[in-house]
Amino acid sequence: MASTPPRVAVVGGGIAGSLCALVLKNRGIIPTVIDAGKSGLGGRLGGGDRTIETFQSSHRRPARGDAGVPFVRASDPRLAGIFSMLEAKGLLAKWNARFGILGSAGGGFLPSGIIAGTSVRSMNKDSGEDSSPNNANKTTDAGDFCGFIDGSKAPTYVGIPTMADLCPGICRAADIEVILGSSVRKVHLAPGGGWTLSLDGKDGMMADSYDGLVLATHNPLLASDTIQTIAEGELQASKDDHDSSSLIADRLLQLSKDLQLIREARQPIVSWSALYPSDVSKDRIPFDAVAIPGSHVMQFLSRNASKPNRPGQLDGCELWTAISTSQFAAHYADADLDQVAEIMSSEVKQLWAPYFDNSHVPDPIYAVAKRWNAAFTPQTLNLKEDSIALAPWRLALCGDYISNSYSTPFEAAALSGLDAGERAAASFFQ
Ligand SMILES: Cc1cc2nc3c(=O)[nH]c(=O)nc-3n(C[C@H](O)[C@H](O)[C@H](O)COP(=O)(O)OP(=O)(O)OC[C@H]3O[C@@H](n4cnc5c(N)ncnc54)[C@H](O)[C@@H]3O)c2cc1C
Repeated sequence: MASTPPRVAVVGGGIAGSLCALVLKNRGIIPTVIDAGKSGLGGRLGGGDRTIETFQSSHRRPARGDAGVPFVRASDPRLAGIFSMLEAKGLLAKWNARFGILGSAGGGFLPSGIIAGTSVRSMNKDSGEDSSPNNANKTTDAGDFCGFIDGSKAPTYVGIPTMADLCPGICRAADIEVILGSSVRKVHLAPGGGWTLSLDGKDGMMADSYDGLVLATHNPLLASDTIQTIAEGELQASKDDHDSSSLIADRLLQLSKDLQLIREARQPIVSWSALYPSDVSKDRIPFDAVAIPGSHVMQFLSRNASKPNRPGQLDGCELWTAISTSQFAAHYADADLDQVAEIMSSEVKQLWAPYFDNSHVPDPIYAVAKRWNAAFTPQTLNLKEDSIALAPWRLALCGDYISNSYSTPFEAAALSGLDAGERAAASFFQ
């Protein structure tokens, strides 16, 4: 490695990009995380300007609910090690609460202790497909939201103070440079090696150069375009009769096409957060977080206050959050979000009805819905590797769309980021 540490741009500061940057930093490389989010990193963990819901309770005290990933788990020992480190730094904490499954039609609450060891996977509601772990539908609408019950042997963690704080916390703790509010529009291979990035930021378009590049964006379009450009360069070289260049170009072009297909297959969901009056109490509702296999509207519902380091009560009110089914989100793709929030609140009312006997289930004081157009990637590249590293061009790709080997997309993204960091550090600058 050269005496001046090389600089690597990590485009995308979700969990994949943040963990990739952490590894690079630990391996003596200077990473810069560049993210389009204006107010924070985190991507689908709920970062940036897109996600954090702010409520004003009756006394105008703000409350923040987790509007992205509601919980995380590490079944893989490599990720479990990272989680222990993040827990020691106060960025993650274990969430021990009353977990289980809720029947949607008065079926009642089954605590996870009772159903542990039994499979709670259901049939996909519309297609009748098996939603076993190797099926692409495993992530959503599959009965057991992101393996909430099936994966419960591994401890359940949440970000502190919110899920949205995890990625900023990782970068802050490792003193990693972060550029926010800058969307990378295009990347160009520099003639002498390395990359020049065209950034669209608050000061307009600007260019910046780096020795290496990791694309950790949720949308593989940038990766597809970048690889196509490399392939075209190889094709040009093959015109001089370099057979190997032609072979490499073909493979790269195929990868570029595959990335386009992944981009087209995206599953939307809606996250919902609502503030309830105090009669929705811990004593009345017997659970804190449930998967809801039978509901066409929502697949996960949780009490925010049961998470560690969250305020228990907000002026006597309780904050709840939920994740819709993708089917519901697709159906209401163009609907007004207030209307969507109202429908989700009505579903909660029905789910809670058995716990209010014959009395009236309260309406929320306030409810908001947030639409995620590409929450899940139902198809992956299905590679054996967790990330893609193209060492001759000092380019790596990571994210939840690469490998199908993990039980949850969060875990796939996190391990992909770690792998990309290790491979970039090992091969880019030899
Ligand atoms: C509401 C919700 C709930 C979920 N719940 C779960 C769950 O319980 N369990 C689970 O396993 N998974 C869950 N998921 C999926 C999980 O969030 C993702 O699989 C995982 O977080 C992906 O991480 P990532 O880093 O690959 O991508 P992302 O988190 O999407 O990060 C990509 C980042 O790249 C940035 N970016 C994109 N393009 C550019 C560009 N051109 N220039 C600069 N920056 C760019 C984005 O701003 C973003 O911050 C959920 C997703 C949502 C939306």
